Amino acid sequence: MPEIQLDNDKTENGKKCCAAEGCLAEGIYPAPKSRHALRDYLWFCLEHVRAYNKSWNYYEGLQGAALEAEIRRATTWERPSWKFATGKPSEEMLKDTFNLFDFENRECGQREQTLTPEEKRAWQIMRMTPVKDLEQLKKQYKTLAKENHPDRNGGDEKAEERLKEINLAYDLICKSLNVSGNNATS
Ligand SMILES: [Zn+2]
Repeated sequence: MPEIQLDNDKTENGKKCCAAEGCLAEGIYPAPKSRHALRDYLWFCLEHVRAYNKSWNYYEGLQGAALEAEIRRATTWERPSWKFATGKPSEEMLKDTFNLFDFENRECGQREQTLTPEEKRAWQIMRMTPVKDLEQLKKQYKTLAKENHPDRNGGDEKAEERLKEINLAYDLICKSLNVSGNNATS
């Protein structure tokens, strides 16, 4: 639940944060706390200073807890839009967004659900989301193979292990796509 902090003196790097709880935008726009404390400011981002001013005008005369409650109501309603409007979605949201994109827009999204656990793991080893595009797979395979080649890693045994895993994963995926990894033509 977002909350208005009526005393937002907290600063980050000398900057004030928007007084609307949960809003990460910078508080650049001052708004008086009440008509009786016109020099006592709250600091908001543009969106929230508008919301605040709206409730200020509308609820003229309200002060203290009553005003706070009204602002809270106003900003609660607006919450879905300002989460995006601030341009600073949380890392969790970013992840969700990308997952959504991957699963809903990917043409082989349905295919992914029919993967065996081995195939899923193989795609993970290839550090890819499942695709049907063989060229893309090949390209990724070459990149990973180069990256983990023992010559490049001073004979590191772990790199060698990884390379083996990558080879196995690549073979498995090629088989699952019904092509041969070595002789496939596109
Ligand atoms: Zn804000």
